[in-house]
Amino acid sequence: MVLTVTVKERVWSATFVIGGSAMLNLSGKTAFIFGVASEDSIAWAICKMLAESGVTLYLGYQKRFRSRIFQLKDKLPQIAGFYPLDVANDATTKEFYDAFSAENPGKKADIMIHAIGFAPRTCFDRPILFVEDQDINTAMTISANSLQRCLKFGLPYLNPNSSTITLTYAASNRYVPSYGIMSMAKAALECWTRELACHLGPEGHRVNAISSGPIRTIAASGIPGFENILDHVEQNAPLRRNVNQDDVAGATLWLASPLSSGVTGQCIYVDAGYSITMVPETIMNN
Ligand code: NAD
Repeated sequence: MVLTVTVKERVWSATFVIGGSAMLNLSGKTAFIFGVASEDSIAWAICKMLAESGVTLYLGYQKRFRSRIFQLKDKLPQIAGFYPLDVANDATTKEFYDAFSAENPGKKADIMIHAIGFAPRTCFDRPILFVEDQDINTAMTISANSLQRCLKFGLPYLNPNSSTITLTYAASNRYVPSYGIMSMAKAALECWTRELACHLGPEGHRVNAISSGPIRTIAASGIPGFENILDHVEQNAPLRRNVNQDDVAGATLWLASPLSSGVTGQCIYVDAGYSITMVPETIMNN
């Protein structure tokens, strides 16, 4: 079925496959994707869904995942380039854009996916009262402030009306045991999302966050008690299941597309509804 949508005099054609995955036609669009480390990465599911929709992809990868990225790139012909990216500082962030522009003079992207998170081990191992400044700063720099850094250096390579999507977690505004310093980082990331949306909005650029429910990935494997969180969500979320990478990728596709043209600065929950609950359903079992 083909759905035609008119948004501010622009007509976009969206093709929906009934009974299969729902797809939008974004042919001719280009995306920067930051945060693929493995086939389990949420960013990899986003790559696959954007690619199916016709988007050309340029990946920024951490050097320690280089060999995995090399294997993965052959699985998606829509990956047109991949360059090292370390958001720890300005120089190693700029490195990505320098390499991209050297190989693709004049080319710009329409979509930026920021799916980056990291906190040193001590942020999870110690009570938050005793985590050292430098480890807190690392978590904040990589997991929150890097959104600003990616956009600061990326702006010259973004087309008008671009859409940036970052990934966050509900511990930003409610207590989750063991998430610790990352809760502060996610709160800051959501604040960056609003601030950057306001700063870039007058030029037509949009910036949004998706708050994902828990999903097994490399980053999640470092969170103590993660399997218990998955069990708890499955039993208590309104949909009685956990979300997966494709659930998040679907919402990302919508935010990347003109169907969400009036949406910016928002945090959209893709969590099987868990965030609307307060008293867990499981109390009824006692
Ligand atoms: P992942 O481990 O697959 O992805 C994390 C990515 O961050 C990796 O690709 C890694 O290379 C990248 N990264 C870390 N430090 C970096 C640096 N200095 N420079 C550049 N890249 C760096 O795990 P994921 O779960 O797919 O995580 C993606 C995002 O989704 C993260 O922001 C994470 O906090 C968020 N998120 C995950 C969950 C979950 O349960 N998995 C839930 C909510 C939000």
